[in-house]
Amino acid sequence: MENCIFCKIANGEIPAATLYEDEEFRVILDLGPASKGHALILPKTHAANIYELPDELAAKAMVLAKKMAGKITDALQCDGFNIVQNNGEMAGQTVFHFHMHLIPRYKGDGVGITWTPGTLTDEMREEILAKVKG
Ligand code: 5GP
Ligand code: ZN
Repeated sequence: MENCIFCKIANGEIPAATLYEDEEFRVILDLGPASKGHALILPKTHAANIYELPDELAAKAMVLAKKMAGKITDALQCDGFNIVQNNGEMAGQTVFHFHMHLIPRYKGDGVGITWTPGTLTDEMREEILAKVKG
């Protein structure tokens, strides 16, 4: 993808603070971190979102997320960890190259990854089960 900033960063055309790199991924520090150590896992090949991501890369991305979560937790001594992955503008995605957010959490950090719980009504449950399971 010619004009994709994360393609350029992942492939080393634009410099970024790199925590890890292999043939398929680069893990960089987020320029607008939610917390100390907020990092992004970027595949080196372009997929706009999870819907486009090949299964093999999806599997490897999760294994890498696990590995990086352990490494960052040990190094920065955080108290918890969020892994966040946004798809589509309505879901908060702003860069349309698949990425996973690795967000270390610290006691009292005030990072807002939360929502107000709703209610799963009988009607809604049945509708969803029928539509998704088919
Ligand atoms: P999204 O909102 O798409 O899930 O996340 C995009 C993330 O990329 C944001 O957290 C933002 O701070 C980060 N970001 C955007 N542009 C750059 C950049 O050029 N370099 C780095 N390192 N992070 C970026
Ligand atoms: Zn891209």
